[in-house]
Amino acid sequence: MTKRNVGFDGLDLPPTALAAVAELGYEEPTPVQEQAIPAILAGRDVMAAAQTGTGKTAAFLLPALGGLGRVGRGEGPRMLVVTPTRELAQQIQEVARVVCAHTHQRATSIVGGVSYEPQREALKRGCDLLVATPGRLLDLMGTGDCDLGGVEVLVLDEADRMLDMGFLPDMHRIVAACPSKRQTLLFSATLSEDVLKNTRDLVHDPVRVEIAPKGTTAETIEQYVLGVSAEAKKRVLVEVLRREGAERVIIFSRGKHRADHLCRILRKKGFSAAPIHGNRSQNQRARALAQFASGEVGVLVATDVLARGIDISEVAYVVNVDVPHESESYIHRIGRTGRAGEHGWALMFVDAGEQEDLRAIERLMGKAIATYPRADGLDVGEHPATLEAGRMRDDQIPGKRPRRRRRRRCPTAH
Ligand code: AMP
Repeated sequence: MTKRNVGFDGLDLPPTALAAVAELGYEEPTPVQEQAIPAILAGRDVMAAAQTGTGKTAAFLLPALGGLGRVGRGEGPRMLVVTPTRELAQQIQEVARVVCAHTHQRATSIVGGVSYEPQREALKRGCDLLVATPGRLLDLMGTGDCDLGGVEVLVLDEADRMLDMGFLPDMHRIVAACPSKRQTLLFSATLSEDVLKNTRDLVHDPVRVEIAPKGTTAETIEQYVLGVSAEAKKRVLVEVLRREGAERVIIFSRGKHRADHLCRILRKKGFSAAPIHGNRSQNQRARALAQFASGEVGVLVATDVLARGIDISEVAYVVNVDVPHESESYIHRIGRTGRAGEHGWALMFVDAGEQEDLRAIERLMGKAIATYPRADGLDVGEHPATLEAGRMRDDQIPGKRPRRRRRRRCPTAH
């Protein structure tokens, strides 16, 4: 392994930011920090392709906050971070709290699902940094409680996710309310054609930072698949938890109801499990995360709401009970384990109807996922998907055109 020799000291960060780095316990900058921080300090716009877990939050907070001074009562924000989910906002706010304690700046967050009044009050007090989800931000702009006319640095976080969630019009309205003379920092798991096309006019002559090529996953994550029958998934899950341990485990399933259902089954079998998905209130989600962090709950059963941005360290392993339809979700899901150099692993159950989705994921990553080596004695059902070794054929390797096969229509397909 090559050792990087640019420490945080070599990045020209102000002393207050370096004090925050020390408190956060970071020793070496991550690659995205190494590349983005100098560009941000130089006042350039940045477009960064960096998946979650790469240290991107500190990459924008550390250099940007230091240069902004402090606002008075009722003023601000000078820096605005727009992020798609409440959980992400919370996580950014946690790093911001540490940085702002050193810079003596005020950070506020406004997200949906909680009452308006405390957020209005916080805005009245004034804030240097505002971390917001688009819907609530637009609400408070509409009522005149939030004025973006003083924004000097705008961060669009998880831009690809915002597009996926249909926030493009909101994003444009928010950007239009910011001064045109500003610094814009755009972070996205991937800089796909779609992201580039829809955000071209939001950034000005940006420095491109590309850390992880599309589809790569943290090297510290071992990945496995296991062919099962659809109806066997629940009992295989229970057995895997018994074998591999049921502490600090995150399980992903395809839908909210399925997540609730799995959670009930696990509880019946004696596991401490909590669901987390978009149908849960903000309080329920926060409670589940806190219980998981403290170890009171060993297993979180989630939908893709959690897949991006949640920063829970030391997740032992991730189980994908269902193969996500959207290949990039897989990368985000397994990114919950093995964060910032920790060792982690991930297992995915694949039934016969999901083999196409598995192939799409493998094409995206450019490699086949190994079969689970500890499957001996597991009852995987009568008709498990057959996942033979070496199934990445030539026509599935990125860049090579897959042979087109006519798809037979199946009226009962689901
Ligand atoms: P992010 O990509 O911002 O979600 O960060 C992911 C994780 O990386 C968080 O747990 C951070 O605490 C951690 N992290 C960020 N920067 C560093 C660093 N320079 N050294 C070690 N851990 C870091």
